[in-house]
Amino acid sequence: MRIRRPLRFALLSLGLLSLVAAASFITYRISQQIGITELQAMGRHRLDLYATSLEREIDKYAYFPSTLGLEKGVLALLDDKGHRNVTTDVNNYLEQLNDRAGTLAIYVMDNLGRVIASSNWRRADSYVGEDLSFRPYFRDAVESGNGRFFGIGTTRSEPGYYLSSALRDDRRTLGVAVVKVSLDQLEKSWSTVEAPVLVGDENGVVILSSVPDWKFTTLRPLDERTRKAFDRTLQYNQRALQPLGVREIATLDYGARIVRMAREKQEMVSVYPVAGQFLAQSQPLPGTPWTLTVFSQLEQVNDISVIRTIVAAVTTTLMCIVGVMINQRRRHLEDRLAAREALQKANDELERKVQERTADLSAANEQLQDEVAERTRAERTLRAAQDELVQAGKLAVIGQLSAGIAHELNQPLAALRTLSGNAIRFLERRDETTARHNLERIGQLVDRMGVITGQLKAFAHKSSGRPSPVDVQQAVSHATALLEQRLRTENAEIEVDFPEQPLYALCNAIRLEQVIVNLIGNALDAMAGQTQPRVEIAAGRSKTMIRLSVRDHGNGLTADVESRLFEPFFTTKEAGVGLGLGLAISAGIINDFGGTLVGGNDPQGGAVFTLEIPIAADSNSSSKP
Ligand code: ADP
Repeated sequence: MRIRRPLRFALLSLGLLSLVAAASFITYRISQQIGITELQAMGRHRLDLYATSLEREIDKYAYFPSTLGLEKGVLALLDDKGHRNVTTDVNNYLEQLNDRAGTLAIYVMDNLGRVIASSNWRRADSYVGEDLSFRPYFRDAVESGNGRFFGIGTTRSEPGYYLSSALRDDRRTLGVAVVKVSLDQLEKSWSTVEAPVLVGDENGVVILSSVPDWKFTTLRPLDERTRKAFDRTLQYNQRALQPLGVREIATLDYGARIVRMAREKQEMVSVYPVAGQFLAQSQPLPGTPWTLTVFSQLEQVNDISVIRTIVAAVTTTLMCIVGVMINQRRRHLEDRLAAREALQKANDELERKVQERTADLSAANEQLQDEVAERTRAERTLRAAQDELVQAGKLAVIGQLSAGIAHELNQPLAALRTLSGNAIRFLERRDETTARHNLERIGQLVDRMGVITGQLKAFAHKSSGRPSPVDVQQAVSHATALLEQRLRTENAEIEVDFPEQPLYALCNAIRLEQVIVNLIGNALDAMAGQTQPRVEIAAGRSKTMIRLSVRDHGNGLTADVESRLFEPFFTTKEAGVGLGLGLAISAGIINDFGGTLVGGNDPQGGAVFTLEIPIAADSNSSSKP
């Protein structure tokens, strides 16, 4: 099926567009996938790194509280709480220790949770004397020997990490030693982080973060009970605890998530972007109930993916264009090849046809030549036959005329006999005048006989058939002369109507005379029995033809006779009288001259035969016998 051009173009464009779109989509997805996988690996690596450094930082202080149990002053203080010197010593000791370690505070509680010595004993808001038994780190230490707790100080609202250890003698718990570590100290380990990182505590509250504003926000919504508990333990010292605004978009393997961070606030200053799409990866911090979360920025992956997608789209488009061009070129070549083949085929076909036609033509030519030869032969035969017929017709006419001719010759012969006899006698009588008269008469008769025989001879003579200008009137006179005897016998009259100017026809005189004799003979036959038969002969001319008509006053032609007039051997005459060849031969002769002979009835009665023969160009030429 041949699709229309614009439709094909539209389909092709649509196809290519789909291809480019598919390639772009696949590239984007793969690139995204690769990017995320790489980012994930990097994130895991960062997680490990940050967790390790944080752990190391915390571990630095882990044994601090328990080592206080080795301090004699501290033990003495716990034993004897009221001793003033001991208290001062311990306070001083703790103060120095705190300064050296760079911690926030170091203090010792008795077994009821009351602070009995503290590094900050000099300050007005010193912990000394405070009952901190409600703090979980106290309870944990009493119950399990150690406690860890993140909280905001109730006295100075200073957030910190509390590490506690129970101080025991052999039998019982004497008290609890506590070190409060500043978050800044812990966060020091993150000075080199390249992406936002945070630590959420067991309640989902951000306690450490590389982004200062994220601190004391919540990772998940807090229910009322939890909030109440916070009020009780004063863990966050009644801070507002706003949600961080992390929205999870997708979950990946190994606990990784794609999240969106709410738009950063105006006043937030950070070395790396803190809003947008991130890959969040979390990991619990060993030895704590905390979770470390690293946020890797997805924007970069997206940017790379977009660039790769654009490259893929451009490449695919170029490939498509090249493909289309190659295809077009191929089709063009194919078309050209097909056209060439078609041309070759057409050429072959043409050549084959030409050969066929040539063969046909030569066959036809041969056949034509054969036919022409055959026709020439037939024509020759026909002409010979016609000549024979003409000759036969002449002989027939001569036969018919022979009785009359015999009579015509007998009379002068008898007269000659008498005249010659008389001439001898007149010579004997020496009547020379009469004898001379008789001899003259004899001479005239001989001349007359010579004319008759001469005409017969001329009539019977086989003519050459070559046409020449013939005086038609003269031809009529000769014909009439030939029939003179018969005309006289039958008391017939010939009425001739000729124009003044002689008419020359291009034909053969003898043959024309033969035709005229024939027509007059037939006219006389038709009027047989009439007392005064009359034949009217008229002649005229057109531009190219001489016309001659022979009219009688007989019974005319019946329809049957008229239709068969020129059939050879058609006759209505008695046997021996007519051969039925006269008109057939006459028509043949006239046709030979390039003319026509027609027979019909005159409106006034009787038959009329009209012949037309070409006019001779040379009208001055005289007729030849
Ligand atoms: P034929 O005279 O030997 O019969 P033709 O060929 O000359 O042969 O004439 C054929 C026939 O045509 C005649 O037999 C006659 O019946 C008819 N025919 C010819 N001329 C005339 C005429 N002038 N009037 C009537 N009939 C004619």
